[in-house]
Amino acid sequence: MPLLELTDVEARYGQIKALHGVSLSVDEGEAVSILGANGAGKTTTLRAISGTVRKSGKVLFDGKPIGGRSPEAIARLGIAHVPEGREIYGELTVWENLLIGACFSRDRAGSKRECERVLELFPRIASRRGQQAGTLSGGEQQMLALGRALVARPRLLLLDEPSLGLAPTVVSAFYDIVTSLNAEGLTVLIVEQNASVALDATRNTYVLEVGRVVLGGPSAELRQHERVRSSYLGY
Ligand code: ATP
Repeated sequence: MPLLELTDVEARYGQIKALHGVSLSVDEGEAVSILGANGAGKTTTLRAISGTVRKSGKVLFDGKPIGGRSPEAIARLGIAHVPEGREIYGELTVWENLLIGACFSRDRAGSKRECERVLELFPRIASRRGQQAGTLSGGEQQMLALGRALVARPRLLLLDEPSLGLAPTVVSAFYDIVTSLNAEGLTVLIVEQNASVALDATRNTYVLEVGRVVLGGPSAELRQHERVRSSYLGY
């Protein structure tokens, strides 16, 4: 049974229909990516899962429907969403940002312990725990956004364009962490415009075009697919 399953999910913003019936599934422990051009509906797909856009169709998590639940309830079930642009609180310190992540923890009593555990994963931000988060570099802010999501010990991590605006070495360091989290059993669904990085980091990939899944399968096979190569890899 997949950990996450979407069937015929449609979503709209007022008159604009962003998803036209998206179906996809993610197995427990798997890393999956969603590729697509600007406006294809990648972000909206993640929002449909985390409950932050109005939608129809079926969203199952661990076999149970979650489509009608609030974003808070979905977060408490163990789905953590790291949005595009990170949305960290720039005026607050690194430590305070991590504590906010603990609001959605299934074990709130252990919040500080979880924040310490997360800081061990990110030595670079650990040494800046008292620093205002808005003064961190882009890569450090992305690490902090990931760390804040991990504090709640999610079962499913949703990452929206984590490589956006980061230098290649920082992207590579970020994905090393994601890969090791996945190797330890965390299920990950990643939206990326950096197709090469996403294909390398995941076992399966879906391609979205204009709100529909047009291709899906093992990432290694899609890397060879002509449509993926010409549209997303540039050769
Ligand atoms: P990008 O890579 O540019 O972020 P995306 O694949 O994530 O693109 P979405 O952000 O999901 O695409 O957008 C899908 C469609 O929904 C687009 O046509 C977009 O203009 C529209 N859309 C997204 N957010 C809103 C909004 N808040 N209000 C109105 N339309 C929106």
